[in-house]
Amino acid sequence: MLKVNEIYYSIQGESTMAGLPCVFVRLTYCNLRCSYCDTEYAFYEGEDKSIDEIIDEVKKYKCNLVEVTGGEPLMQEESLELMKRLCDEGFEVMLETGGSLPIENVDKRVKIVLDLKCPSSKMMKKNDYENIDFLKPSDEVKFVIGSREDYEWSKSIIEKYGLTEKAIVLFSVVFGQLEPVKLVNWILEDKLKVRFQPQLHKYIWKPETKGV
Ligand code: SF4
Repeated sequence: MLKVNEIYYSIQGESTMAGLPCVFVRLTYCNLRCSYCDTEYAFYEGEDKSIDEIIDEVKKYKCNLVEVTGGEPLMQEESLELMKRLCDEGFEVMLETGGSLPIENVDKRVKIVLDLKCPSSKMMKKNDYENIDFLKPSDEVKFVIGSREDYEWSKSIIEKYGLTEKAIVLFSVVFGQLEPVKLVNWILEDKLKVRFQPQLHKYIWKPETKGV
């Protein structure tokens, strides 16, 4: 059984798949407490569901793209089996993870979006850098940047681990904290090989809207 916060159908908003219709399976619990978290409601609330029940619900939307997200999905070990089963069923599967727990055993068919937490999140010390060794070229590493300090730190991590050679690198802003135009200008000035990533759903709906 997995504790599931919500299953819903919306537009993918935070990766290179942004803009595509997607079914989201949001699992309960998170081991982090990022300063800018917008899904605190997923820390404890949820309903127990079997993998079969989850897959049946996902199938109702008739959408081939499925994202397993949280909270932190990898806190529940059975999430690994859920992702494997979704892949076996022919779905294109994405995982959104906070970057503090190992991705080593995630099915290789899954596209992983791995956060590396910047200083202003106050969770930087929780980053598990060993995860970098398990990234595939199709995976994505996301930095959510709230200040110039975060930006400089992100650059240094990209350089230290050769990240742009290993995966796709995404830069996005902490919504309401850093103006997108500033981050875009910094990226252009430094000619970084990273992709600016707006949180699309926050521009389509009101930023605080749940289940989108
Ligand atoms: S990892 Fe995600 S869900 Fe967990 S506290 Fe950070 S932003 Fe919130």
